[in-house]
Amino acid sequence: MFQHVDAYAGDPILSLNEAFQKDPRANKINLSIGIYFDDEGRIPMLDSVRKAELAVVADAGARPYLPMEGAANFRTAVQHLLFGAEHPALKAGRIVTIQAVGSSGGLKVGADFIKRYFPDSAVYVSEPTWDNHRAVFEGSGIEVKNYPYYDPATGGLRFDAMLAALREMPKKSVVLLHACCHNPTGVDLTPAQWQQLVPVLRERELLPFLDLAYQGYGDGIEEDAYAVRLLADEGLSFFIANSFSKSMSLYGERCGALSVVCPDAAQAALVMGQLKAAIRRNYSNPPMHGGQLVARVLSTPELRAAWEAEVKGMRERIKAMRKSLHSVLSAKLPGRDFGYFLSQHGMFSYTGLTPEQVERLKAEFGVYVLRSGRMCVAGLNTRNVEAVAVAMAAVLAD
Ligand code: PMP
Repeated sequence: MFQHVDAYAGDPILSLNEAFQKDPRANKINLSIGIYFDDEGRIPMLDSVRKAELAVVADAGARPYLPMEGAANFRTAVQHLLFGAEHPALKAGRIVTIQAVGSSGGLKVGADFIKRYFPDSAVYVSEPTWDNHRAVFEGSGIEVKNYPYYDPATGGLRFDAMLAALREMPKKSVVLLHACCHNPTGVDLTPAQWQQLVPVLRERELLPFLDLAYQGYGDGIEEDAYAVRLLADEGLSFFIANSFSKSMSLYGERCGALSVVCPDAAQAALVMGQLKAAIRRNYSNPPMHGGQLVARVLSTPELRAAWEAEVKGMRERIKAMRKSLHSVLSAKLPGRDFGYFLSQHGMFSYTGLTPEQVERLKAEFGVYVLRSGRMCVAGLNTRNVEAVAVAMAAVLAD
């Protein structure tokens, strides 16, 4: 019956994570998967989230289905977090938000909507991008193309080439942009570069699709929403998928959202209707529990303040690890410039390691990074950073 079914090659990131789990070496170090670990190497349970959970459980009642679009308190809290409670586009009813099964679910609902209402549009993603971007959009039957982004020569951004590519895109093309903490490179646009993007997006009538999976891991919770607010301030229409997997350490609860900023309230109502239709035919309605933790944290002032402090702690720990790695590597290989470890943002860095060097890191030192050279800096800690730097220096020196 199923002989004709193709074998699934597996997801490269998840497969490498499985290989790590099976590796018997005691000194192995996992810098592959995009998860924040604390200095003890554990996935944190944030205190603000724990307190919210206790309160939510204490108040728990019956569990009816949520509406297709999710819980109203969650959706409002997300809108205020992303745009600011007083944003004129919110007040004008131009922004619609649905609770999604992680931001992956938000991307999927958005992709289905795009396929139906912009059937001739391709989606352009940065070269490189998170592997699943291509998979999700192609899975909805959309053609996926690249625009230039990362410059291996400098470890920075090919901004002029990116702008030039945007200028050549057919009208109504969808442009997927990482709002902060680009995965996999850690290379972000500066505020000035975002501003330069706006007229091109407007003139070419492009449809930006922002992905904000790491809010708070770059420069701050508000700062990392810069691109979202700028595009909304500029009156553009766009999509934004955002996630609480990393910012609240709620990976397995699948908490995310999709928002669409529309030209007016009437169009927003139409879009909302079709987002609901897309949800209905995919999974009917989202789960309840995780979203209620998020809503509670965001809308209870003490919990909100505690969460912001915890996110700051995570962000600063990553920055400290970047500095340690940079200083050991610079001392060991003085001729090389490792400044990109300091300038890149968020959880990830493109190390510039070749696939062969990555393989040696794993085989000889038990250090796991992705084949592309992407390292999850959030897997470093005060006990392993020196060993990682020594291992990297060894494979880079030969
Ligand atoms: N976008 C990017 C860029 C990501 O890195 C991730 C998670 N690795 C996601 C979206 C999906 O996050 P989630 O579905 O857990 O919210």
